[in-house]
Amino acid sequence: MTKADLISQIEDLEEQSSVLEPSEGERAALTRHVTGFAASFINRLSSTNAFQSKILQSVAITGNPSPLTDILELYNSEVVGTGINAASGGHLGYIPGGGIYAGALADYLAAVTNPFAGAYFAAPGAAAIENEVVHWLKELFSFPETATGCLSSGGSISTLIALTAARDKHGIKGTHVYSAVVYLSSHVHHSVQKALRIIGLEDVVLRSIPTDTRHRMDAQVLADQVIADEQSGLHPFLVVGTAGTTDTGAVDPLEALADITEKHGLWFHVDAAYGGFFILTDKKHLFMGIERADSLIVDPHKGLFLPYGVGAVLVKDRHAVLQSHFYTANYMQDAADEELALSPANLSPELTRHFRGLRVWLPLQLYGTEPFATCLAEKLLLVNYFRLGVQELGFEVGPDPDLSVSYFYYPFSGDSNHLNRLLLEQLHADGEVFFSSSQVDSRFVIRIAILSFRTKRSTVDAALAMVERCLQRVRSNT
Ligand SMILES: *Cc1c(COP(=O)(O)O)cnc(C)c1O
Repeated sequence: MTKADLISQIEDLEEQSSVLEPSEGERAALTRHVTGFAASFINRLSSTNAFQSKILQSVAITGNPSPLTDILELYNSEVVGTGINAASGGHLGYIPGGGIYAGALADYLAAVTNPFAGAYFAAPGAAAIENEVVHWLKELFSFPETATGCLSSGGSISTLIALTAARDKHGIKGTHVYSAVVYLSSHVHHSVQKALRIIGLEDVVLRSIPTDTRHRMDAQVLADQVIADEQSGLHPFLVVGTAGTTDTGAVDPLEALADITEKHGLWFHVDAAYGGFFILTDKKHLFMGIERADSLIVDPHKGLFLPYGVGAVLVKDRHAVLQSHFYTANYMQDAADEELALSPANLSPELTRHFRGLRVWLPLQLYGTEPFATCLAEKLLLVNYFRLGVQELGFEVGPDPDLSVSYFYYPFSGDSNHLNRLLLEQLHADGEVFFSSSQVDSRFVIRIAILSFRTKRSTVDAALAMVERCLQRVRSNT
């Protein structure tokens, strides 16, 4: 091939692929469609059901181009119109999501500018923004400046990072695995067991510590169990406490757990994925002792109302976490630690990664922290407001919640578990707001979790009206 042929072929291909770099006018048109769609989505939120069950049509990739309007129409019917609307304030099930608009704009900027945020040398500013978010979190939870941490895709990956550091710090490998003991409360999130399995610790001895009447881990049982295990020749090494359980929003007695772990030289991990940011409210006292944890996870995509895909992990012993994740062995020297820890990729399984620091940093810069704190305080009051309302309808409720998750059930005469299950089916069939369910002490209960920034008093009033009409349907059907 002559040079002239080569040039002509390159020019052809350049021409054919130029669609990937639209002109400014074309970009503006595309952006207008998308922002128009987003605007109408947000405008319709308050009048749209929080839950819709639906048979999916096709979202197949045909390989051929389609107009953006068609794609958005498909997106609207197949994605926006199906399942739980997690952007809706009526999402009161599981742990509700967020999606503040400023977070979406930050994602847009991050995607357009696309810095390589995993490596400090490649994108020092982007790494600095992520590290600043970690720094802010360290201050929030009174972790020392020497602690390290990074942002992850969510609580599950954060847990993986923290427990891997615990494993490596305590040298739990080979035959040690079989005598190592891990202590969890019976309300621990399943991502902990999942992480243990992934990191090769599925054969450790797992102790499920019972909870008290407020669903908090019973510290006395834990203390006794650790001593019993030590005496029988096992090697206790890890205690997982939860600051805001998924089921009931309970905060374990962190100070008491820290006393036990300190006394016995155990790694103390705190799962604050859901509850952590309530430390910004007058519930701060419940978090006393969290600063004594060896590792801590918290999910900005929950308590900071950000779009899904951002968790955080803090680890006090930077050697432990670097040992698990750094990727250039020769650099593993004390002197280099400071710089190694500046690159998020050295603290996480990810190398190339989304610049997720921006979606935390930008909203915090734009609004300051106060609106986040007040919105969380509002959620705490709203759950109490719901509990009062549902009791007026004759329901039983769980104990006073530590945070913004609670549960309720109707004391039907007859098979109460079965009838409350029927009630949940009615609630899902109605769908105006969305509740999930759980088992608490073998009782079928309906959960309410208030965490969306869009959940307002009017939402709770609508939820109560819906509970009332669904209760009537169950009663008239049975
Ligand atoms: C949500 C949650 C997790 C898991 O976090 P993901 O972000 O969903 O991966 C872990 N622990 C608790 C207490 C949670 O609420």
